[in-house]
Amino acid sequence: MLDENDLKRYASQLIMPEIEEEGQSILLKSKVLIIGAGGLGNPTAIYCSAAGIGYIDICDHDNIELSNLNRQIAFSINNLGLSKSTKLRDYCLNLNPNLKIKSIVNKFDNKFPIDKYDIIIDCSDNIETKYNANLSAHKNDKTLISASATQFEGQLAVFKSGKFKNSPCYECIFPQNQHQDTNLNCREVGIIGPVTNLISSLQVTETIREIFIQNSFKKEKSFTKNSLAGNLLLYDCIKQEITKIKIKKNLNCNICK
Ligand SMILES: [Zn+2]
Repeated sequence: MLDENDLKRYASQLIMPEIEEEGQSILLKSKVLIIGAGGLGNPTAIYCSAAGIGYIDICDHDNIELSNLNRQIAFSINNLGLSKSTKLRDYCLNLNPNLKIKSIVNKFDNKFPIDKYDIIIDCSDNIETKYNANLSAHKNDKTLISASATQFEGQLAVFKSGKFKNSPCYECIFPQNQHQDTNLNCREVGIIGPVTNLISSLQVTETIREIFIQNSFKKEKSFTKNSLAGNLLLYDCIKQEITKIKIKKNLNCNICK
């Protein structure tokens, strides 16, 4: 149960009938893996920590560069050359020292064990890692919350192909054999920080929702009734639009057919 400190810290969340003390207790017991500690991973880890998701592992093998600082808001000028996942963990622990937050200074690949996590949050900026995260999540029946952002656009989707036969996976909509060089990372094509920040905020909102859905918590409430799974959320900063489009399972998908 929540102690006095928790009741104060999370007061603004648990006052809402969609969450209450029980919902906060569920969040504090939940385990997430954040893949990537860059533009998306920074705000995602910060918001997961602030919300009180109890166990957060952050996986990234990269070091901090000056050009990261327009969007990777946990880092400062004094952190250049240091490990991203380690500095992000430090920042989050400073924000919320009661959580278990671990840094994994490694590149995510298919051999990475994901069994212990409730949710996999893909904040990576390269297509190879996204395909690996999709494959692992599918094989291990995990919910994958996958985001990307470049230039003035971002996208977000929730995949549950391992849990539900009719549910699409990442490769259903972005097949590996049709993939072209459209998925260049921020270093190559550019990005403004508020775009990654916005997509990350949406990503953590869906993480909280999916944690509740997995725990069959408050099923009757509108917040937990509708999963984003089966949809792709697109943000276009130039057009000032957020659109939600339906996505379908590819019956010939190499991963989930
Ligand atoms: Zn698929």
